[in-house]
Formats: sequence, C-alpha cells, structure tokens
Amino acid sequence: MIMTDKIIDLRSDTVTKPSPAMRRAMAEAEVGDDVYIEDPTVNRLQARAAEIFGREAGLFVPSGSMGNLACIMAQAERGQEVICEAAGHVYNYEMASMAALGGVLPRVIPTADGIMTWEQMAPAIREKTYTRPQTALVALENTHNMAGGTVYPTGLAHEICDKAHDAGLKVHLDGARVFNAAVHLGQSVAEITKKFDSVQFCFSKGLGAPVGSMIVGARPLIERCRVIRKMLGGGMRQVGVIAAAALVALEEGPKRLHVDHENAKILAQGLANIPRLVIQPQKIQTNIVIYDVGETGMASSEFLQRLSERKVLGGAVDSRRVRMVTHVDVDWSDIEQALRVIGEVVGKGF
Ligand SMILES: *Cc1c(COP(=O)(O)O)cnc(C)c1O
Repeated sequence: MIMTDKIIDLRSDTVTKPSPAMRRAMAEAEVGDDVYIEDPTVNRLQARAAEIFGREAGLFVPSGSMGNLACIMAQAERGQEVICEAAGHVYNYEMASMAALGGVLPRVIPTADGIMTWEQMAPAIREKTYTRPQTALVALENTHNMAGGTVYPTGLAHEICDKAHDAGLKVHLDGARVFNAAVHLGQSVAEITKKFDSVQFCFSKGLGAPVGSMIVGARPLIERCRVIRKMLGGGMRQVGVIAAAALVALEEGPKRLHVDHENAKILAQGLANIPRLVIQPQKIQTNIVIYDVGETGMASSEFLQRLSERKVLGGAVDSRRVRMVTHVDVDWSDIEQALRVIGEVVGKGF
C-alpha cells in the first residue's frame, strides 16, 4: 500500500489555504468600518472587481450563498418565481433561502449537463395574468458545479439574457467559478457576463482566498443589495483584513486556473484507464471531475472511505457518483498519487 504524509484533498476548491502573499496582505491591510463604507481595502476590492467586470459597482459579501440570495431578493418580490436549473446550487445547496427568506418560488428546469437553453426555459415563464405567480428572474450557473464544471457557450448566455430581457425578466449569474469558465473559453469575465443584470463570484474557490464573494452590477442594484446584506446580518466591520486576501486572489488567482484544468484532465484520463470506473474524460472542461464508481460494487461512500484511509479525499454526489475538484493546493504529482491510490482501491493494483 502506498502511503505518504500529505492528505490530497480533492473534496472541493474551497479547501485551499491562504498563500503567504495573502497572509502578508491581511497582516498589513488598511482597515475601517465597512458598515460606514469606510474600509479602504474593501472599497478598493469592490472598485477593482467592478472594473474587471466592466460594471458600475461591486459589493463584498461573506459567502456566495449570501451574494446569490441578495441578488435574488433584490430582483424578485415575495410570491414571484425564479427559473433555475434542477441540479443548481441556488436550488440545492443554499438552504432553500430564496423561499425561506425571500418568499420566492424556484421553478426548476432539469438538464443533462447543467446548461439551460432558452427553448427549455421559455415554457416555464408564467403567463402575465393576475391569477398566476409571476416569473421575475432567471438564474444561470457558470461553471455548473454538480454537472461537472460545465461552461455556458457565451453566445447561448447572451441569447438567454436578451430573450429574458425582452420577456421583462432579470437575469442573475451564479458565477461562483466564472473565472474558470472564462479561462476555458479564452474570453474575459467582462465579455462573458456583460448581459447579466447581476453576477456573483467567489474568492474562496479556485481563486484561493480564505473567505468571501463579490456581487457586481449597476449601482442602484448594488445599493439595494447593500441593504439586503445588512438585513441578512452580513454587514461587516474592519473586514479589510479579509478583503486584502481577496484582492490578491482577484489579481493572481485567474492566472493559474489553467493549471487546475490541466490537472483535472489528467485526473479524468487516468480514471478512464481504471477498469470499472465510468467517466467521459473528453467532457472535462474546467476543474471538476465527476465519475461513476457503481460498477466497482462499492457505494460512493464506501469507495471514499477507502480512499480517505489512504489520504485521498473526494466527495459523494450520490450513491454512485464521486466528485473531485482540482485547485491550487494540489499539483500534478498529487494527481498521480491519487490515481495510484484509486487504482489500488478499485483493485487493479498499480
Ligand atoms: C460554492 C458555490 C456557491 C457559494 O457557496 P458559499 O459556500 O456560500 O460561498 C454558489 N454557487 C456555486 C455554484 C458554488 O459552487
């Protein structure tokens, strides 16, 4: 049995630890009270994010979930509906907050790969009559997490925004990993998100920061979101200590995401070479790899337990499928080691 001391943690790209440059920036951060809008580091971060996305304003929020919720609550009234994808984060992993706190009903569209088309969502838009709840918002996810890091073709995202606007709807992007999408497409985040009314992205995923997300959009929307953030308990004080790390993540993080994508492809190809694991490696676009372990005779929970005994961690999607995510704290040799361990556990015997 192969053993090394390092735990190879592929459960998520959220597990990354702040880099030495981030730690330094945090220690030296200039701070003020951000509820008074007086934290210079937060103000700098928000302005820089708005500049990168070509928007009027940005708002730093404690989590992606709060960012998504604030954007939904700012653009859909109680009793209205939000169209979203059935496996999407806002529907499955945010504690039903849009319903519980926003009074909004999700209207879900199942897809094969997480990517909705206008033709799929158009029939879900409510007729404009006072006897039906009214559709207010469409929420897309790019990259789509639980579909395996899939990317919206930019033309399709633009078409959905245009047609939704024609129908009188707003469009929100859950862009937790939108920089991964931009790297895959070879386009800027400003270009691929330019038609959305609101965009949320995470510093705490592939960009490598310890905490935080950003929402960007037009100034009136951002000011509305500032009120909602405070209502949700997300008004933070000398939060420049965290924003300082996010600034480093924003400038440096995107430059190396292609490495995570290459490592994900190596992982997927290696998994495809292990008998009884089912994966289509040519479908991997970004840093998320989902595969089926059902043919091994093990449930995903048992498979993952055996991997963890050998210091390799992944996550279960369901009883058959496993998700592994590459990030800044795993390199090519870690992927090779993970593949050796997985091969042993499946019984090929490397
Ligand atoms: C991680 C994630 C979020 C936000 O998660 P938080 O843990 O609340 O920061 C939102 N959407 C997607 C697709 C995500 O992967």
